[in-house]
Amino acid sequence: MTEDGAFRERFARVAAWIDDYLRDTRRYPVLSRAKPGDLIAALPASPPDEGESFDAIFRDFEQLIVPGITHWNHPRFFAYFSISAAPVTIMAEALAAALDVNAMLWRTSPAATELEDVTLGWLREMLGLPPAFHGIIYDTASISGYTALAAARESLGLEIRERGMAGRHDLPVLRVYITDQTHSHIEKAAIALGVGRENVVRVPIDGDFRMQPEALARALDDDLAHGRRPMCAVATVGTTSTTSSDPVAAIRAITQERNVWLHVDAAYAGPAAILPEFRSLLDPAHGAESIVVNPHKWLFVPIDLSVLYVRDPELLRRTFSLVADYLVTPETDVHNYMDYGLQLGRRFRALKLWFAIRTYGVHGLQQHLRAHIALAREFAGWVEHEPDCEIAAPYPLSVVCFRFVVPGRDDAAADALNAEIMDDVNADGRIFISSTKLRGRTVLRLAIGNERTTREDVVLAWQIIRDASLRLR
Ligand SMILES: *Cc1c(COP(=O)(O)O)cnc(C)c1O
Repeated sequence: MTEDGAFRERFARVAAWIDDYLRDTRRYPVLSRAKPGDLIAALPASPPDEGESFDAIFRDFEQLIVPGITHWNHPRFFAYFSISAAPVTIMAEALAAALDVNAMLWRTSPAATELEDVTLGWLREMLGLPPAFHGIIYDTASISGYTALAAARESLGLEIRERGMAGRHDLPVLRVYITDQTHSHIEKAAIALGVGRENVVRVPIDGDFRMQPEALARALDDDLAHGRRPMCAVATVGTTSTTSSDPVAAIRAITQERNVWLHVDAAYAGPAAILPEFRSLLDPAHGAESIVVNPHKWLFVPIDLSVLYVRDPELLRRTFSLVADYLVTPETDVHNYMDYGLQLGRRFRALKLWFAIRTYGVHGLQQHLRAHIALAREFAGWVEHEPDCEIAAPYPLSVVCFRFVVPGRDDAAADALNAEIMDDVNADGRIFISSTKLRGRTVLRLAIGNERTTREDVVLAWQIIRDASLRLR
C-alpha cells in the first residue's frame, strides 16, 4: 500500500480536506438539508464486485455523503449539546486507527490500558475528585450509566449474576429513583437490567427542575416499609433539558443513611468542575458510588468517549468478569478492562484525551469553558431585554432555555409560535437550535460548546432567532 507512495498522497488529500473543512465549516448548512431516502437512492443497492479507486470513493464522500451530514463540529451548532472534535484529537483518532489496538487485556496493548489509567488520573485531579475514584472509559454515558447500575444491582448481594431474576420468589422488587429531568438512559438501563419501567420512581422536582430531597427520602422509606429494595438513586449534575443540578449533598445524606447506591450523572456539566469557580458542582458528589463525565461533550474530544468513575472497581469486575480459557493471562496486578463491562473489544480511546489534555493544558481547557459560559450569559442578557421573550430556566452553565410569548394569547399558541420559530431558524441553515418541554410547554434551547464558536456566531444566532420571531409573532 505504501510502496508506491499512494497512501501518503491520499492521506495528504484527506488532511487537506479536513483542514479546509475546519477553516471553512461555516459555509455548510448546519442541519443537513437531506430528505429521507436521498442517500439510499443515490447509492447502488449492491456492493461493487471489484475494488474501486480512491478517487471515486472520495468524490462520492464529498458529493453524496457530506450533503447528508448535520455538522456537529460546526461552530454554529447550538442544538442539544454543542460538541467539538479538536484538530489534534482528529489526528489522535487517525493514529489509533492505524494501530488498530484492541485493548481488551493489558497484554493486548499495555500502553492503551496504562494510558487510560494515567489520563483518567489526570482528569480526576482536574475535576477535583478524590483519588479513591477509579476511572474507566466506555463509549457513551448511556453505557457508563448502565454499567454503574449493573454494579449497583450486584452490590445488593442477591446472587442475580448467578441465578438470574426470572422465576425467583425470594427476590424483592428492585427500585431506581430519578426525576422527570433525568436522562432517559437510566430508564433504559432499568429495562435492560430487569428492574422494569414501573420500578423507576420519579421523585418530584422543585421550581428550578431539581430533585426534592425530602421527596426522595419519603419514596425510599415508603419502598423500604413495603419490602421493596432500593437499588440506586440517580442525581444529575447538569440535566439534559436545562442543565439544572440536583442537590447532591442532601441526596447523598439520604442515600448514605439508607445504604443506597448513589450514581451521579454529570455527562455534560462534569467538565465545568475543572474551573475553580465551578468546582463545587462535583464536590458533593465525592461521596457517590459512581460518577459519569463525558469528555466527548465538553472537553473537545470527538465522539465517543465517556468516563465512569467508581469507588469500588473490584465490584465492577465482580459484576462482569468471565474469563474464557483463551483469554487467561499470566499478569497479575494489571487491569484487563474487558472484565469491567459488557464489551470484550475496546478501542484505544484514551489516546485522543491524552492528546487533548496535553495540547490545551488545564488552563487552555479552562479558558474555553469560561468563554462558553460567558457567551451563554451574554445571550441570556439579550433574551432578558427582548419584549415578549423570557428565560425559561436558570442558566448556570453554557445552555440557555428561552421562550417567546404572545400577549393576550394562550400557552398553546405560544408553543406553536416557538416551534415555528425553531423550524424557520433551522431552515435558514446558518445556525441549528433545538427545543425541549418544560412543565409541558415548548421552549427553545441554545447550547454553546464548540471550541471554534466565537462571539460573532452567538450574535448572529440571536439576530436570526429574533428576526424569525418578529416575522412570525
Ligand atoms: C448527553 C447526556 C447523556 C447521554 O450521553 P451519551 O454519551 O450520548 O449516552 C446522559 N446524561 C446526561 C445528563 C446527558 O447530558
